[in-house]
Amino acid sequence: MKIKIFLLGVLALLTCGWSGARAASSTAEVRSLELTGTRRGARLVLDLSRSTSHELFTLDKPRRVVVDLRNAELAKGVRVPQGQGIVREIRTGTQPGRTLRVVLDVEASVEPRARWENGARGGRRLVVELGDAASLARNDATSAQSAASAAAAPRKEPQPIRAVHAPRDTNRDVVIAIDAGHGGKDPGAIGRGGTREKDVALAIARALAERINDAPGMRAVLTRDGDYYISHRERIRRARAANADMFISVHADSIRNRDVSGASVYILSLDGASSEAARWLAERENAADLIGGVSLSDKDDVLASVLLDLSQSAAISASMAAAERVLRALRDVGEVRKPQVQQAGFLVLKSPDIPSLLIETAYISNPGDEKRLSTSAHQRKLAEAIFKGIRGYFEEHPPPGTRFAQARRANLAGVVAGTTTP
Ligand SMILES: [Zn+2]
Repeated sequence: MKIKIFLLGVLALLTCGWSGARAASSTAEVRSLELTGTRRGARLVLDLSRSTSHELFTLDKPRRVVVDLRNAELAKGVRVPQGQGIVREIRTGTQPGRTLRVVLDVEASVEPRARWENGARGGRRLVVELGDAASLARNDATSAQSAASAAAAPRKEPQPIRAVHAPRDTNRDVVIAIDAGHGGKDPGAIGRGGTREKDVALAIARALAERINDAPGMRAVLTRDGDYYISHRERIRRARAANADMFISVHADSIRNRDVSGASVYILSLDGASSEAARWLAERENAADLIGGVSLSDKDDVLASVLLDLSQSAAISASMAAAERVLRALRDVGEVRKPQVQQAGFLVLKSPDIPSLLIETAYISNPGDEKRLSTSAHQRKLAEAIFKGIRGYFEEHPPPGTRFAQARRANLAGVVAGTTTP
């Protein structure tokens, strides 16, 4: 994990405009919009009742930054702030499919970034930053001071002040990409009783996403949130676009022998890894950067293959550590088919830099397993077990810049200082 941490720590994280959905289908309320702007940058903070999927993009002529929030609406009486600094004006509107659109007219072309944070009253907060964020940090400090001296900011929450050279994304959530296997034209395995793997996988994936989104410091992204087909490469692409710290693919196994039952957990095999490395190297001119922003396209052959190799072996050992925890937790909710973590060349596990697990939750071909798999009580139990395994892993191996990392540092400091019992 040293190398992984090094890659993540030294190089800036990729930013992206795609984020996953929460499993619940109720509408997210935008409770407030706050704009801070300077001549060089701006930050828009949207306080929501819960997280929802968002899209962030820019348009030209005139220059605009657009934030689309799916399944969201403005709460009654919410005031849309006036333009400030680089932002000339903010408008909101509703798009088809209950999508709330927030449009910022901007003075200059800027690169927007967005991240989710925990918000007020158990809600979630989408922070959109444009242009130079460092200019905002200074501005925050000034406005916090003037607000304090004026003492005229009722109900306004203190804004975190970010030092100019503070590590980026401190306190960020650990992002888990949850991949419900199969979907659409691909039903996966089908049990004797007619239960389809794609439905069970989606139900467990949604339950897991809900559990993760309820946990402080964690956020789930679903690669699919409906009954449609997506390719394996697209599943991986969506996880990468969300800067996922871990990828969990949920399945249910099938075998001719109907007596076979129980769960198994897979990670990528070394054979699978080396064939994938060959593909990345061959296509590295157009390949995406590794997580952590390491580009392979500008490296010579040897360096590129060394970097890829380091990244892959770190990802595989991280996958193994997480898989062992998940397997142990699954043992508590039912039968485990194979007591060891299995390794295979499944395509969906092949991200060279994201620890990835494939979980066969049970055998849909076994009548007992099929019956259990189709009840929501058992689906939730499985989700809870997977969640426990993942959370345990991140408590022990927190990615830099996350709340888990902060909590661990605080814990260790407390133990050393003797303020808490070890
Ligand atoms: Zn499957």
